[in-house]
Parts: sequence; structure tokens; C-alpha cells
Amino acid sequence: MAEWTYLSSVCNVCSCIERQLFLFYIMNTFDELTNNFSRLPGIGKKSAIRIVNWLLKQDKIYVQKFSQNLGILQDKVKPCSICGTWTETDPCPICSNPLRDNSQICVVEQAQDVSTIEAYGEYKGLYHVLGGLIRPLDGIGPAQLAIQPLLARIRDGKVAEVIIATNPTVEGDTTALYLNKVILELGLENPVKVTRLATGIPVGGDLEFIDKRTLALSFRGRSSL
Ligand code: ZN
Repeated sequence: MAEWTYLSSVCNVCSCIERQLFLFYIMNTFDELTNNFSRLPGIGKKSAIRIVNWLLKQDKIYVQKFSQNLGILQDKVKPCSICGTWTETDPCPICSNPLRDNSQICVVEQAQDVSTIEAYGEYKGLYHVLGGLIRPLDGIGPAQLAIQPLLARIRDGKVAEVIIATNPTVEGDTTALYLNKVILELGLENPVKVTRLATGIPVGGDLEFIDKRTLALSFRGRSSL
């Protein structure tokens, strides 16, 4: 826990060095680690304290390995030079896998979306990480995103379908429409099909609790039985 210590200073009357009554606060390892953890997404101060307490009770080898991995994380894991997903080998295992369908590219906002779709296990094509969405109010335009590398991959000629998997938000919609436009403007000999993930009623959902926009999108994206 935090400690208090004496602070030496010069006396105003006789100029001697004296130890003041007031104490100086020193941040120790426990507090520093608590602060570190509380900066992680979704972790508040209380959870951070709980994590540090939990770590203190764990096996020393586990904690050392955990800290070692954190230390080398940014040196070992880098974005794939083709798709932009996090990887320790370049190209990433997905881009270098000959069994993946290279006629399909699924465009996602961020690298963690790749893990989410991979966990689902059905998609066998390739990916492209944009690194964000078009947000004019935050000063993020197409030039700040990995759109040109995507167009370069499409121009290669092996891509038959681009699946846009941005979230169904204003920014996600804007980005999807922009991508559709620039892909069409490529004027390819063999036009690339641009699709978007369907939006609608969740499995097990109830019509009564669906918002108007989701319901409208569900109607638009309806399919034959
Ligand atoms: Zn890759």
C-alpha cells in the first residue's frame, strides 16, 4: 500500500537541514499496478485492486510469465502487412493459408473483429482491417484508414466478393457506402460483388422489443424460406 516518508528541507530560521513534519507520498508497486490495470478497457479502480490482490496470491511462475509476455507483446505482435490483423508471423496465418478462399475479402473495422469472426468458424475467406471508420467529426477520413491497400488487393483480380462487416451504426453505414462507391469506381473488367452483413432480429429475440430501425433493416434484409 502507499507509504508516507519524511521530507528533508532547509530550516527558514537557522538554515539547518531538518526533517519536516509533513510527509511525502510515495507510490509503490501495488498502487502503480492498480493504476496500470485501471487504464485497461472495462476495468475500473475497484476491479484493478481486485486483480492486483488476486495476482499476489497466484503461483510466482505464472505471474512472471504473465509479466514477461506483457513486456514483449508490442515487439512480437505486429499488424499483418497484407490484411492488418495482429500476427507474430508476416503474412499472418490466414493470409498465408492456401486453403482459405482468396476470392472473398471480409472488411472489418478493427483487428479484434477478425478473432470474433474466426471464433464463429464458418467464414473461410480472407480479411482486411480498416483500422477505424470514417468519422468526419473526429477528423477521420478515408485517408486515415487502410482503404488504398484494400483497393490494391481488389485490383489484383482474384477477389470476387468484398463482404463489408462494419457495425450497423452511422459511421459503419457511411464507411460501407464509401467503400462500395470507391470499389465501383475502380471500373474493373470483372466487377466485384460488394455485400454487407445482414442486420436484423437477433436469434431468440422478440419482435415486441425490437427498435424501429432494426425492424426496418430486418424487413429490408428478409430472405426466402
Ligand atoms: Zn493477414
